[in-house]
Amino acid sequence: MAKIQAIRGMNDLLPTESPVWQYFERTVSDLLKAYGYREIRMPIVEQTELFCRSIGEVTDIVEKEMYTFTDRNGDSLSLRPEGTASCVRAADQHGLLFNQTQRLWYAGPMFRHERPQKGRYRQFHQIGAECFGLAGPDIDAELIILTAGLWKKLGIQSDVTLQINTLGLPEERAAFKADLVAYLSKHVDQLDEDSQRRLESNPLRILDSKNETTQQVLNDAPLLEDYLSEETRSHFSSVLDYLKQAGVAYSVNPRLVRGLDYYSKTVFEWVTESLGAQGTVCAGGRYDGLVEQLGGKATPGIGFAMGVERLVLMLKELDVVPAEAIRTVDVFIVAAGEGTQQKAFELASTLREEGGLRVLQNMGGGSFKSQMKKADKSGARVALILGEQELENGEVVIKDLTAEAGQRTLGQEDAVIHLKKLFDNQG
Ligand code: ATP
Ligand code: MG
Repeated sequence: MAKIQAIRGMNDLLPTESPVWQYFERTVSDLLKAYGYREIRMPIVEQTELFCRSIGEVTDIVEKEMYTFTDRNGDSLSLRPEGTASCVRAADQHGLLFNQTQRLWYAGPMFRHERPQKGRYRQFHQIGAECFGLAGPDIDAELIILTAGLWKKLGIQSDVTLQINTLGLPEERAAFKADLVAYLSKHVDQLDEDSQRRLESNPLRILDSKNETTQQVLNDAPLLEDYLSEETRSHFSSVLDYLKQAGVAYSVNPRLVRGLDYYSKTVFEWVTESLGAQGTVCAGGRYDGLVEQLGGKATPGIGFAMGVERLVLMLKELDVVPAEAIRTVDVFIVAAGEGTQQKAFELASTLREEGGLRVLQNMGGGSFKSQMKKADKSGARVALILGEQELENGEVVIKDLTAEAGQRTLGQEDAVIHLKKLFDNQG
């Protein structure tokens, strides 16, 4: 019988990989907490309507990427393609929004039926942050400064660049859209097929078409910038000022529009060259109209989401994950000879309970040599070796497995103290 395989574009995360993910998730969540963000967890399935009303009917996501099904009650449900809509739904449903400030973050799988390739999957993972109740440019800047700090912590700051733009308010965009459509309609046969289709449904998306002839046509198109109010402009220039002062480099990209309908004012993307075509690792923006659009009381909001797979790929390709951060075992206990395994159980417990160490104890016996091989393979930093001679003398041998540092014999209590100190120092 043929074996059942995972669904295309949906990946297993194997134990060889998970330490890198955990390191990444830990680094992000520590930083979010340092900025006062609190975790929220939403269901993976929502009413389809939620995504249609927030992301927009004519976006790629809703038009062709959603996993939508009818459940046994006949309701149309969808696997969430992103987190912002669910987060707004949850925060509003539980009364977290009106007259309050909320800094929330979430992490988890998202689902989009796209063509799987490097950096693009059908089940992928995002970590996102959303801030509600603050309308000023300072919070836009804070969010971006937070992400810039993250790249620094991860050691990838020189491999990502910040693209930023302002989309203005819906009414400003509407006037621009009308003129853009009028202009593009005159050049419709020079547009690529996707852009021709979008001319009717979602003309702003044409701005980020990768097609060269389309881009040429766009060179003489009206500019959104010219349609923006004084208020929108000064919001944007304040954001840029804050970034400048904080030393966050950016490049203003007037063609950056983002694929979702709900954005207004500031939008941004962090982009890398190191992943090929799938270069956006983090994207976000302001969405002041979204809460009201979903039936809540008008509440300003801004947020971002980062693609975990893409960032993990980057960390690995740039080789910036510290070895200690992904070690899963501290000590491997080798015990060979009559009565040594009993003592090994005791020492292992002491190291775990008193030292907080991660201890792998050899199981199933075997010679010193074969156990030492297992110790090496385990990834442990130190081997604690116990033979009949050591057992009799109340001693153990401590061997550093990461260096040619040799080995030393210590009394058992001293060995525990020594190991506690060794791993304490490493933090
Ligand atoms: P792209 O232009 O690459 O399709 P997007 O604009 O559709 O991205 P967003 O909806 O803004 O992406 O999602 C935020 C981030 O989530 C992206 O910048 C990316 O890092 C990640 N992401 C989006 N779709 C996928 C996917 N199918 N597989 C893996 N990561 C993804
Ligand atoms: Mg996409």
